[in-house]
Formats: sequence, C-alpha cells, structure tokens
Amino acid sequence: RAKASGNTSYQIFDPTLHHLALQRLQLEIDLRKALQQQEFIVHYQPIVAIATGNIVGFEALVRWLHPQQGLISPATFIPIAEETGLISQIGHWVLHQACQQLQQWQDEKLTTFPLTMSVNVSAHQFAQADLVEQIDHILAATQLTPQQLKLEITESAIMENAQAAGSILQALRKQQIQLSIDDFGTGYSSLSYLHSFPVDTLKIDRSFIKQMGEHSDSLGLVPLIINIAQKMGMTVVAEGIETQTQLDHLKALNCDFGQGFLFFKPLEPDKVSALFSSK
Ligand code: C2E
Ligand code: MG
Ligand code: MG
Ligand code: MG
Repeated sequence: RAKASGNTSYQIFDPTLHHLALQRLQLEIDLRKALQQQEFIVHYQPIVAIATGNIVGFEALVRWLHPQQGLISPATFIPIAEETGLISQIGHWVLHQACQQLQQWQDEKLTTFPLTMSVNVSAHQFAQADLVEQIDHILAATQLTPQQLKLEITESAIMENAQAAGSILQALRKQQIQLSIDDFGTGYSSLSYLHSFPVDTLKIDRSFIKQMGEHSDSLGLVPLIINIAQKMGMTVVAEGIETQTQLDHLKALNCDFGQGFLFFKPLEPDKVSALFSSK
C-alpha cells in the first residue's frame, strides 16, 4: 500500500509488493529445481458422455508437489512457467506422462473401447517449432494412436500466435491429432473465426455452465453455443458441471460430453484404475 506523504510525493517502496516480488522470484527458482527433482505429478479428471455418464477419456491436469509448500495449483505456477519459458519442458513432461499413463491403462484393459487423453497446451508451447515432432516421438514411444490424443488450446493461445496458428493446426490435423478449444467463451469467442481452423471439440467454459439454472430458467448462451458448434461439426464438452440441474439441462440440449465435480474430481492415477475395477 503506497501511502501519500504530503500532497505531492508518494512512498514508492511498498513492503507488500516487495514481499510478493520476492515470493514470485523464489517460486521461479524453485520451479527450475522442480524440473530436475521431478516434483510434478499429473491428476486425471474423467470426461463422460452426457447421455450415459460413461467415461470416454481424461483430462491431464498437472500439479506441483512442492517440498515445503505442498501441492501447488497449476493456476499459480503455469503463468510463471509460461513467462520464463520453463513451460516447454514442463509441458513436454506432462504430454509424455499422460500418454504413457493412458497406454498403461490400455494394457490393464480398463475398457473395451479406446479412451482419449486431453492435454493442455499453453501459448508458448503452441508456438514451439518442434511441437508436432515432439508429439510424434511421444506417440511412437507410447504406441498410442494419434486419435486418442486431444490437445486443449485456448482461443487466446491461437490469437497470440495468429500468424502461425493456421499452419500449426493443419500440421497437427495432418497427424490426426485431435484439437479442442479450451475455456470457450472467455476470450475472443468467435465461432466464425474458429471455423477457419480444423477444430474437433469445443469446451464451454465453466462460468457459462455455472450460470445455467442459477436465475430462474435462463440458460444463457449455452444452447446457442452447443447448437452452432454441432452444426459446424464439432463435439461439445461442458466444463465444471457441479449440479444435477445443470446436467439435466445439458442432457436436454444434447450436449455431447461433460466433466465436473458432479461426476469426478481430478484423480490420482491409482484412483482411476480402482474406478474401473470396482465396476
Ligand atoms: P482447464 O484446462 O480449464 O482445466 C479445468 C480446471 O477446472 C481444472 O483446474 C479442474 O480441476 C477444474 N474443474 C473441473 N471440474 C470442476 C468443477 O466442477 N468445478 C470447479 N470449480 N472446477 C472444476 P486445475 O487442475 O486447477 O487447472 C487449472 C488450469 O491450469 C487448467 O484449466 C489449465 O488451463 C491449466 N493447466 C493444468 N494443467 C496444465 C498443463 O499440464 N499444461 C498447461 N499448459 N496448463 C495446465
Ligand atoms: Mg483444459
Ligand atoms: Mg477449461
Ligand atoms: Mg481454464
């Protein structure tokens, strides 16, 4: 809190800000170490078919098991990793880990049909010249079919790389890797712009799902988004489903897939195997 001292001069030094800057710097130093010490873990949130509730795949969500601070959320460290460029290495590790995990579950024959694995890709990672090559290597090493891998990219990540986006997305499509637009509705939100890209899936941001049924019978923009996306040939995932009311609405709207605490929270890998074996 910068306090006014007199009318004309202000105290520049702010102890709170100083503390925050130090904390952030420490986090950055720790983040570099975390890569070497392998302090990251991945949790997996099941994605279900809205009509049946059956699990069709997972979203890989990274966490940082900090030696002093415990579990740190990606919302805290991904932005720092993104600014410092460390995201490339973390992102590569997550991709590899998630594909390997799916391969292992496949070996355990959890289901008779192929499951999908969705992995978040940040703007910096998306712009990496060798992204497609990296993924090719990982798929070859883990023996997954490319159709089982879905990359989640936000609209802003595409917009930030507007020049290159078209050719990167085409290259991924050529390898038959699936593409999802994450957090749809929070950014640029242009369905017609998206139409120029080979996008398979639209994930409606959870803020839209939260609104549904909150005020009398207003469903907000959800019906329109589902309708247009499906007409454009995309499948739709509703994010952050927490209540039965929301699920009922989504069923009535023929939404394809969903994920949220109503079904499952992000789970440790062991919990996922147990989920299937208990059936
Ligand atoms: P996201 O990709 O939109 O992931 C969904 C987030 O919503 C996850 O938070 C998940 O735990 C949370 N969530 C799922 N269902 C519900 C629900 O019903 N209610 C509520 N309140 N939340 C729900 P998480 O795991 O904290 O991840 C936050 C964000 O961090 C992700 O948002 C994604 O943008 C980023 N992230 C996570 N893992 C990675 C990664 O490996 N790479 C990159 N680049 N970003 C990642
Ligand atoms: Mg995501
Ligand atoms: Mg999302
Ligand atoms: Mg998000």
